[in-house]
Amino acid sequence: MPAFPEAASSAVADSQLRHNLQKATGTIRRKRAEVVEELDDWSDLRAAGAAIKAHTLSHLDEYLERFETAVTKAGGTVHWARDAAEANRIVVDLVHATGETEAVKIKSMTTQEIELNDALANADISAWETDLAELIVQLDEDTPSHILVPAIHRNRAEIREIFRREMGVSGKPAPADLTDDPADLAEAARRHLREKFLRSRVAISGANFAVADTGSLVVVESEGNGRMCLTMPETLISVVGIEKLIPSWQDLEVFLQLLPRSSTGERMNPYTSTWTGVAAGDGPSAFHVVLLDNGRSSALADEVGSQALRCIRCSACLNVCPVYERTGGHAYGSVYPGPIGAVLTPQLRGTESDVDASLPYASTLCGACYDVCPVAIDIPELLVRLRTKTVEEPKRRGPRGLDVVMRGVGWILGDARRLARVQRLASWSGSWLGKAGRIGRLPWPASKWTNARDAPTPPTESFRSWWQRTRGGNS
Ligand code: SF4
Repeated sequence: MPAFPEAASSAVADSQLRHNLQKATGTIRRKRAEVVEELDDWSDLRAAGAAIKAHTLSHLDEYLERFETAVTKAGGTVHWARDAAEANRIVVDLVHATGETEAVKIKSMTTQEIELNDALANADISAWETDLAELIVQLDEDTPSHILVPAIHRNRAEIREIFRREMGVSGKPAPADLTDDPADLAEAARRHLREKFLRSRVAISGANFAVADTGSLVVVESEGNGRMCLTMPETLISVVGIEKLIPSWQDLEVFLQLLPRSSTGERMNPYTSTWTGVAAGDGPSAFHVVLLDNGRSSALADEVGSQALRCIRCSACLNVCPVYERTGGHAYGSVYPGPIGAVLTPQLRGTESDVDASLPYASTLCGACYDVCPVAIDIPELLVRLRTKTVEEPKRRGPRGLDVVMRGVGWILGDARRLARVQRLASWSGSWLGKAGRIGRLPWPASKWTNARDAPTPPTESFRSWWQRTRGGNS
């Protein structure tokens, strides 16, 4: 996977992708703004959401133990996974123990993060995504491009083609006369999924929230597919990041107002499913929770960076981000794209790789993400902090091109006569360096800047010489 600047440059060249993204994010943005406007106490709710999450994270050890005790008491089993490999191994073993070779899945970022579907496929277990957008992504052997709408980069005509081409390969085919009408597409998906719902004895989910006091899990969704997975199978396995904990049932009151308004622009989401342990004759008879760390403890250890763990995955920050709107999610090289991905991924995975080190720069620092975040995560602050970290780390391996450029710029700006000389040179070169007011490409080391951005053509007359000419240098 290339680093963000290279991946983004091919994404922004795709005009169909940009059109799809602009249309979808613009619609969700407008809906969100309208329903948030309706609430007089939105800022109080936001502060409450941030406070509950911050409190839980600062006492996470206690709440995790309380959660485990409550789940066990209710007849469930808690498993602890340090990393993706351990979590995948636990889930594969649990499915094998049932004797089944397939499972239905509820949309889950956490299972995407650990690449559970691949691990299951390697163990000869077929996992069927049941969320409509996830189904589109899975059928197309694609990866999600958005937290909430994984297939946001696809338009209706493209989805129709995917359904017609792929549905028959893994189950009930799409009707021959399938149109790109949303109702037709939804009906085709419903029919394709129904046989899988009725057949599968195992379900795999994530969770939006885990309630420590009662050991309950909560899944918030829009299509009802989650509810089908949670009630019909005999075994339910939920993979839950440890940051999903909230202390009590009452705290849900805050998040069930913040989440739907921020994510889909709805006052209330259509389906909220909650379950606690097992009950004879009602729902799955075996219930497992895999509590996943996978870098979260080290993120938690950073006093400032840990605020990223407050994220409730609403995706509001993606929908307002001017960078995301032009590149889509694939350019981020992570299951968590957009502003939250740019701060969460480097904390979970570290900044050693070029991809992860480039993510804190995938932002204009405009601050729109902070304004809309329902749990008030100061994403720009985290981006700047991570940028500092990435600049300091590679120094151990010698200066990078951008460091060389910045040192050169510092040297020029450090002396007025040097600056004046460079300005004269720039004014002279401005007339032939770039066309249409922009320079697209410069040689190394300046290429480190122009590879990812256009530079403005220097003006043919600098402010300094204009002042000298018109005012004779008088202040
Ligand atoms: S960072 Fe905030 S706005 Fe972005 S997905 Fe998380 S909760 Fe939503």
